[in-house]
Amino acid sequence: MPKQKQAKAIKNIRSHSHRDHVLVLMLCAIVLAILSTVLYFHETKTKKVDSTPAVTVIKKQDDQVPKTKKKVRFEIRQKILRDYTIPPVINGLAPVLSSIPTKRPVVFLGIDDGANKQPFELEMVKANNIKASLYLANRFISNDYDYFKDYITAGSLIEDHSMTHTLLAGKSYGFQKQEICDTAELFLSKYGRRPIFFRPPGGSYDVTTQRAAADCGMKAVVLWIAKANGGSMQYQIGNKLRPGDIVLMHFRPEFKADMQAFLNAQNAAGLHTELLEDWL
Ligand SMILES: [Zn+2]
Repeated sequence: MPKQKQAKAIKNIRSHSHRDHVLVLMLCAIVLAILSTVLYFHETKTKKVDSTPAVTVIKKQDDQVPKTKKKVRFEIRQKILRDYTIPPVINGLAPVLSSIPTKRPVVFLGIDDGANKQPFELEMVKANNIKASLYLANRFISNDYDYFKDYITAGSLIEDHSMTHTLLAGKSYGFQKQEICDTAELFLSKYGRRPIFFRPPGGSYDVTTQRAAADCGMKAVVLWIAKANGGSMQYQIGNKLRPGDIVLMHFRPEFKADMQAFLNAQNAAGLHTELLEDWL
């Protein structure tokens, strides 16, 4: 064969072989496309069948607990925003708080004793979206424990303010411990939650109170730095509420005027009320 013809033949063979490769590749691509289409439809069908009950369950949960979910999300967001954590018990002594160092626009309200019980009070608390720590002393509430259950439903928490409301500074460890621990156990049985804060009656406390409180499982001895009292605000520092202040008021006949004074002071300072318990 002449050299020219030979070269042409080789070129032809190469060209054929190249065309075959392209054909094989195209075929492969078509087969792959068909396979993936079949697989996709099969999977979609299977998923549809499989997921029917799961979707129903999730929807059911959503319908049942949208508020809880929202609440959890809100609480997580709030937790992230918190810039302070209440210190732990150190050397067996519960920390003493009257305000907390935060830059966030919050105040904390404690309502004490529980002697005076007027049904409109809870409505006022709810209408203003107030969640407070209720420092109740057993001697004031033993005639009607149930009265405070609606406060718990509305988001407030019941804390320890002793059994007999005796001023504690100078009293023996045994006496103080009994006052604090007995109240905690009693409130656990009455309300289903053990208090975590102790407010000493009259703000009277000493290092023994801190020790007894810690031994009774209290996370802090909680005092106050401002008061809503007799229909007006009284401040230990300055003349307005500051972020992190703990405010004291009582279940007294003048509850409405005291609460209004607190709300006015809170709003004037651009603050909102949170639960101190959430800052642990
Ligand atoms: Zn008191």
